[in-house]
Amino acid sequence: MAISEKMKKFAEKSSWIRKMFEEGARMKAEFGAENVFDFSLGNPDAPPPAEFDKVLAKVVNDKLAGAHSYMPNAGHLWVREAIAAQMSREQNVTVSANDMLLTCGAAGGLNVVMKAILNPGDEVILLAPYFVEYNFYVDNHGGITRVVNCDNEFNPDPDAIRDVINERTKAIIVNSPNNPSGQIYSREILAELGAMLRQKSEELGTTIFMIADEPYRKIVFENMEVPSIFKACSNSIIVSSYSKDLSLPGERIGYLAVHPEISEKKDLLEALSLANRILGFVNAPALMQRVVAGLQGTSVNKTLYERRREMFCNILSEAGYDFVPPRGAFYIFPKAPIADDVKFCTILQEEKILAVPGRGFGYPGHFRLAFCVPDEVIENSAAAFKRAFEKATQ
Ligand code: PLP
Repeated sequence: MAISEKMKKFAEKSSWIRKMFEEGARMKAEFGAENVFDFSLGNPDAPPPAEFDKVLAKVVNDKLAGAHSYMPNAGHLWVREAIAAQMSREQNVTVSANDMLLTCGAAGGLNVVMKAILNPGDEVILLAPYFVEYNFYVDNHGGITRVVNCDNEFNPDPDAIRDVINERTKAIIVNSPNNPSGQIYSREILAELGAMLRQKSEELGTTIFMIADEPYRKIVFENMEVPSIFKACSNSIIVSSYSKDLSLPGERIGYLAVHPEISEKKDLLEALSLANRILGFVNAPALMQRVVAGLQGTSVNKTLYERRREMFCNILSEAGYDFVPPRGAFYIFPKAPIADDVKFCTILQEEKILAVPGRGFGYPGHFRLAFCVPDEVIENSAAAFKRAFEKATQ
């Protein structure tokens, strides 16, 4: 076998999302795209904001010396200054340009963090339901994941998290607004989690980091607020990107920032910067760094996602499904009407609906629908959702 045994296993159990996406492509070829309701992929369909085209044109036309050169691994200083100013407003804590790095998306940023902090066998806590690729990012750098379930409303349970913490625990990944549930973790829960991590770190003589993965921070509904991670926990690192809020996932541009008072800050920042380089990224794409510097505070038109969320909530409740209305991101995570979520996704597929089973997010018994698709796909799926529910429960 030419490929590693581990990669073979990863490929087998990897992404349900990809599997469903590929199934969708097959079904569209067979039945016609207009007859398939594909909610499998979180690929934002909202166009980037109009300002993006203007800033991009300006950046392309201004003949800056060294525009395409190598740069500090952390990224251009003036770009970090622009992002740090925006983050300071969002976090209500002053963030310095020197405490951050530009990364190749949130995925790149998370790998950089894992590379910088993990020793072989160190543990990272994931809160189910979670973005499945965290498993791979942790494994990439010799770590082991420990999964703790959230409650029925997809909120973290600090007592259950406390129970799995031990001397090998290095970090917990917190993703809010959450993919797949759309939940936003409250200020109170984050404060409790932060205090508990501080207390356990002291007790065990270790440092346990709170790593916040926040690519959906700006996609929130009903004016919900995403509470500050930096206020909740000083040993925290925020990772984010412009993949979702500027609809630029293919451009691979994101960032990470450490709390201004994080433990062993100097060494940590050096390790992060080196990791950014030696993982092969070297630095985040230069052109996109310059573009996002001019787009701070701008985001896609989220009323589009708000409208689709409303449509989905109506369709699902009319058909009898049980779900927690999402507060952010562009996913909804209803309960499957039968215990077996994979079986239920097969029933949905018979109705030409593509959804991802909850077990693909470490949380069986549910299924994820991504609502970054045109309105009419959601609208036209109503009868099919109803039939699937009746078929499953008859
Ligand atoms: N984190 C979460 C929760 C995601 O949903 C995704 C992508 O879907 C990522 C990270 C990776 O995003 P990026 O394109 O910024 O690497």
